[in-house]
Amino acid sequence: MAEIDRMLEANEDWAQRFPGSKPVAPARKVAVVACMDSRMPLFGLLGLDVGDAHVIRNAGGVITEDVIRSLTISQHLLGTREIVLVHHTECGLQSTDDVTFADVVEQATGRRPPWAARAFTDVDSDVRESMRLIQESPYLLSREVRGTVYDVGTGRLREVA
Ligand SMILES: [Zn+2]
Repeated sequence: MAEIDRMLEANEDWAQRFPGSKPVAPARKVAVVACMDSRMPLFGLLGLDVGDAHVIRNAGGVITEDVIRSLTISQHLLGTREIVLVHHTECGLQSTDDVTFADVVEQATGRRPPWAARAFTDVDSDVRESMRLIQESPYLLSREVRGTVYDVGTGRLREVA
């Protein structure tokens, strides 16, 4: 069975339990930027409910131009003011570096990506770098940002000072 078929089936159960629609603006006025890692169920681990927060995810939870685009829309159109970053232990981006990854893609496809993978070694410095990029963005209404690291081995979230 293709994954989409399992998902369509699962959605039948979801629709039965659907609690009703909510306002488009997040109730807790917060946007979360997180890694796409499959072991981070963000709503559960952060105590969020449907309608509470924007969740913006990509490989590494890094601050790209498109993340800034989403945060800008989140703040200017939909009223969020706080930003929370969630990076994590054992990230896939710690297993390579930008040059090696570009080599791998080029060898497999014949094309070298024009963007960097944004690999990193130290997760705390990566969180600090993401906070710095948000604080430097000229488009945001609020740069109230705090960063965390989620331990995929224990389920605990730790704030990065
Ligand atoms: Zn990751």
